[in-house]
Amino acid sequence: MRAGLVVAFIGGVVCTAGLFLFLDGVKSNEATASPAAATPTGTVPNRDVYYPGTEELAPDEMRIVACGTGMPSVRPKQAAACFLVELGNGDKFLFDIGSGSHERIAAQKIPYDYLDKVFFGHLHVDHMGDLPSFWLGGTVMNRLTPLRVWGPSGASAEYGTQAAMDHMQEMYKWDVGTRSGVIDFRGGELEIHEFPFEKVNNVIFDENGVVIRSIPAIHGLDGAVSFILEWNGLKFVYGSDSYPNKWYAEHAKGADVAIHECFLPATLLVTRQGFAPMEALMVGTQGHTSPEQFGKLMSMVKPRLALGYHFYNDFDTEPEVRNRVRKTYDGPLDLAVDYMVWNVTKDDIRVRMSVVDEEVWPSPPLKKKNPPDLTKSIPISDFTKSGAIAMPEVVGPIFKEINDIYGTDIKPVLK
Ligand SMILES: [Zn+2]
Ligand SMILES: [Zn+2]
Repeated sequence: MRAGLVVAFIGGVVCTAGLFLFLDGVKSNEATASPAAATPTGTVPNRDVYYPGTEELAPDEMRIVACGTGMPSVRPKQAAACFLVELGNGDKFLFDIGSGSHERIAAQKIPYDYLDKVFFGHLHVDHMGDLPSFWLGGTVMNRLTPLRVWGPSGASAEYGTQAAMDHMQEMYKWDVGTRSGVIDFRGGELEIHEFPFEKVNNVIFDENGVVIRSIPAIHGLDGAVSFILEWNGLKFVYGSDSYPNKWYAEHAKGADVAIHECFLPATLLVTRQGFAPMEALMVGTQGHTSPEQFGKLMSMVKPRLALGYHFYNDFDTEPEVRNRVRKTYDGPLDLAVDYMVWNVTKDDIRVRMSVVDEEVWPSPPLKKKNPPDLTKSIPISDFTKSGAIAMPEVVGPIFKEINDIYGTDIKPVLK
């Protein structure tokens, strides 16, 4: 009966293994439930969902949040690839930051100063498309710490992460120009770390007890990688897109959580997405990893939890994907949708869905803000100024209100 109820609640999202872990969580919560739950006016223990910002991480605990699990054509239910990893030592990492994922990151209610490390597995838009929004939006949302970005080299310099970031900054010159002399723009600084894509098990990050390595991947062009994060005896592996490859099979072994793409089956690419058969086979099994290939790979890796993503995960597609994975893999498995969250320790992996506050606001700044660097302010022309309708009778009282409250003497710029 209990299992039946839980299955009804979680629908097709959590697999058999996940369900087992989930039930573990239910049991432990029931054991600590308040007696008040047994009264008609009492509270009901929160045992099924995660409310971002309400749970402390234990010193030995890892929390993984799916902030994007879908396809390049984003939709309200699924943004493109992005996984947030939070560690009990306070460190937080973003692996990929695909289109639409910034909104899901913001829903975690984490101050932007704590979100200063982003790792790109490759430079497809569905894996890096929300970086501009996160970078420049973050500066408005009180990030006062430079944003650090790690990403692979390419076959030549123009295809590498450094070139992509240089050109992104060129592309957003106008945006930066409006802000850099007006607000404390320290959070708009970018620290870019390009590393060689072809190096195997290459340490690209080693700070605060956290080691992150990269391994090559096979996808698109030269310049795709996967990541291995190790901390406090826990091993997390993140596969950005890839054809199944020997580096992942070897170096993901022993993972507590191994994430890898698990693409839409070729059949569904034809029937649901209108692909030609040739196109569906090439994209679904040669450019990406089909569910059957994903399963085979996970049978080689044998993680504590295999986590597949990168398909439209719906009530009528998930069973098809799961059945195909089960042809080649019978271990613990979750097929991710956005806002799934996993709490990982050496003894337990608990999976739940998040419930997010759609009216979330950014957190106040964590550091004292500096005055803006006026040397960076770019004046507008007399022509543009000549069009201003100053409304002193309206704007004057707004300035007076603030000046009276805060003891300042600020005057309007446009008169
Ligand atoms: Zn890709
Ligand atoms: Zn992708």
